[in-house]
Amino acid sequence: MLTTLRSIVQEVNGARDLNEALEIIVSRVQRAMNTEVCSVYLLDPDSNRYILMATEGLYKKAVGNVSLAHSEGLIGLVGSREEPINLEDATAHPRYRYFPETGEERFRSFLGVPIIHHRRVLGVLVVQQRESSRCFDEGEEAFLVTISAQLAGVIAHSEATGAMSGLSLTGQASHDIGFKGVAGSPGVAIGTGVVVYPPADLEAVPDKEVDDTEAEKNLFMAAVMSVREDIELVAERLAPQLRPEELALFEVYLRMLDDNALPGEVMTRIIAGQWAQGALKQVVQQYVRHFEKMGDLYLSERAVDIRDLGRRLLAHLQEGNQEELVYPQETVLVSDELTPAMLGEVPRGQLVGLVSVRGSSNSHVAILARAMGVPTVMGMIDMPVNQLNGRELVVDGFEGQIYASPSADLRLFYQEICDEEDALFRGLEELRDKPCITTDGRRVPLLVNTGLMTDVVRSLSHGAEGIGLYRTEVPFMINERFPSEQEQRAYYREQLEAFAPNDVTMRTLDIGGDKALSYFPISEENPFLGWRGIRVTLDHPEIFLVQVRAMLKASDGLNNLRIMLPMISNVSEVEESLHLIYRVYHEVREEGYDIQMPKVGVMIEIPAAVYQVRDLSHRVDFLSVGSNDLTQYLLAVDRNNPRVASLYHSFHPAVLHALVKIANDAHDAGTPVSICGELAGDPGGAVLLMAMGYDALSMNAASLPKVKSVIRSIDSEWAVKLLHDVLDLDSPHVIKSCVDLALRRAGFGRYLRPGRLSGEAPAAAPASS
Ligand code: PEP
Ligand code: MG
Repeated sequence: MLTTLRSIVQEVNGARDLNEALEIIVSRVQRAMNTEVCSVYLLDPDSNRYILMATEGLYKKAVGNVSLAHSEGLIGLVGSREEPINLEDATAHPRYRYFPETGEERFRSFLGVPIIHHRRVLGVLVVQQRESSRCFDEGEEAFLVTISAQLAGVIAHSEATGAMSGLSLTGQASHDIGFKGVAGSPGVAIGTGVVVYPPADLEAVPDKEVDDTEAEKNLFMAAVMSVREDIELVAERLAPQLRPEELALFEVYLRMLDDNALPGEVMTRIIAGQWAQGALKQVVQQYVRHFEKMGDLYLSERAVDIRDLGRRLLAHLQEGNQEELVYPQETVLVSDELTPAMLGEVPRGQLVGLVSVRGSSNSHVAILARAMGVPTVMGMIDMPVNQLNGRELVVDGFEGQIYASPSADLRLFYQEICDEEDALFRGLEELRDKPCITTDGRRVPLLVNTGLMTDVVRSLSHGAEGIGLYRTEVPFMINERFPSEQEQRAYYREQLEAFAPNDVTMRTLDIGGDKALSYFPISEENPFLGWRGIRVTLDHPEIFLVQVRAMLKASDGLNNLRIMLPMISNVSEVEESLHLIYRVYHEVREEGYDIQMPKVGVMIEIPAAVYQVRDLSHRVDFLSVGSNDLTQYLLAVDRNNPRVASLYHSFHPAVLHALVKIANDAHDAGTPVSICGELAGDPGGAVLLMAMGYDALSMNAASLPKVKSVIRSIDSEWAVKLLHDVLDLDSPHVIKSCVDLALRRAGFGRYLRPGRLSGEAPAAAPASS
């Protein structure tokens, strides 16, 4: 059964469009279950009706013509109950609806299962049988449920592809269909999509017609030659260590590269007008499908070889055909997985919005986007990214939604929101040099989180009073090797100088988790619980020592450096780090630098550290809470996973109580405590944190003016009362609504667009607007 299941899923995955996918499903399921009828009904979001989209066994002319209202008939019943319905005689059921155009009356037994993707009912998959004595058995029911669960994602994806081209399920023109993801960075952007692909990823290669087929043929032949040479070289190098039968594997590879094998087929497609990369992708996918379908272990292995060959050829093609990406004046960067390096490649001033298929609101690229003030939507899991290239896009970073090729009306609607936001910011500019102080005189220093030099410029113009978190991994991520001590020193000096004499808190390298360095790959089953932050740098003192030395030297003459250690989970990590920092400090002084010992602090972002605040406080000068990680670890919700984004909630009572405990314990031990997680940049979050007694709030530059304007208009007693009220509540959603209501009543409704911290679920696209 498993083999049949796999081969159906693979075949469906390879379908060109939704109709082909559905045709494959009905014919393959009908055959596999040896039943007379298999049909699929999809729920059309426009009409809210189930439409018969494909059938094997009913009259084909009924396809597209038969539809049922949302709760009509047995189909509606399966959809609304969200569970299978298995009947020996469907015609006897009170909800049975008869459609003469289907020829359905001949069939008695009925098994329908819902097709559900991310809680959304997409449709119903049905099998039917003539004799009523043949009731579908438990095994068959389980098979259909499994197939439906596996296919839901593919159907959602194909459905989104059609919607992207402005087509509804029935092929009618349909405008302004919103695609839902996760809000990554607030704001609205209107611009042109530029899709960037990771290198040598066959799946990501788009189809493209070309005129100059000769050039594409030459390019491809050169790639084949190079791959041949590579393989011969590897075989030669390995020959002494391998037995002849193992070496024969390389022969297989080389034979696949013979003119009449894979290259021949690619050439045919190039001659027909496809560019070399697209032709290669198509042929490789066809081979892979073919081999995998055969269900034989040996042949499945050949599918792996073909894929590998395909990747090698593609890598050579991409080398020889590095097309210069042209970035329009208003670029919306789109990728399967955005990386900070991709952001860095867009010319200054031209990046207006970001869209990423993977990742969630607390992925680091989203944090970077917030720091840069670029509206972003993450977690567009069913998005056919290839289709977005060159299209006009609206990125709604408040709602976590995008629109492709918007109508004039929709465009105008969003343009007005952009203008309103601009006006709001201009109104806040006058606050820049005013202190952040409550109406009853409580001073709350507002600091910024930075990573790039652009953040510094923005931060200064927004009136930040220092840097509460400089993410040193950002300059590491945009490099192609570890930056040298000199290079690091230059990066750090820029930050320190820009804010001197105010403090600049530099965090030592925090890589691992979702922050990867291309030149230092870490591959782990469970990266967020693995080798991250201080764990990596203590295991690699050569990296840590160079970094601390660069920081200390960069602070020469300024003495406004503070060093912060990430991902601390026990006191010995602090002691070891302090030992290394002291060592470097003395060495640097011996070299003749007249610097002061910087203050050293730790991040509280692991639940264990929450319970060791007192022990940690005795060893360091300050604490700073990383509420992004603390939320993820307290709630056991991967901050990067769009599937569980709706569970990631920084207003969760457990998070708020932990934050209160940290502030109280730190103050009892006489140690200052600030916060540098994203919660500090949320106007409601900032009010609660101030009420908890946090000594400073560090946030992305874009949030700072709003937070300042709220704090300057309230008194601390009001904030403390609000805090006490919400600490008695047990639901994150109720807490968030309660805080929003309070802010609204205080006149700050305009700051409250739906936000990241409210944990919105990524609904499957498309959602009609
Ligand atoms: C945090 O975890 O809250 C934090 C500030 O660090 P980062 O987001 O860089 O992990
Ligand atoms: Mg963190």
